[in-house]
Amino acid sequence: VRTSKRGRGSSPNEELGKKIGKMWDAGSTQLEIADALEVSTSAVRFHLQKVGIPNDQQHKSRPLVRGKRACVQCKASKELNLYPSPRHAICTACIHKNLEEKKH
Ligand SMILES: [Zn+2]
Repeated sequence: VRTSKRGRGSSPNEELGKKIGKMWDAGSTQLEIADALEVSTSAVRFHLQKVGIPNDQQHKSRPLVRGKRACVQCKASKELNLYPSPRHAICTACIHKNLEEKKH
């Protein structure tokens, strides 16, 4: 579903998006952000998408096991340096694959 928004400039929505982005960068989960900013998790998801974090990267990541984490997508246990950032739930390889698939 696409909603067209009128108007430009800094809207309250935009401000919220920035806050969400910052919290995400700082390592908060969707739920934590939603609680802190008193918005719904779907709003958080929406804003994260807007700041360039696709839905498929917004999963809560799997726990670390002996320095490794299972990728949510390919399920392989990989070291953290194989992820774009330590908080990513999906490994770099999967993200690249996803991007490639979107191009076609
Ligand atoms: Zn993967």
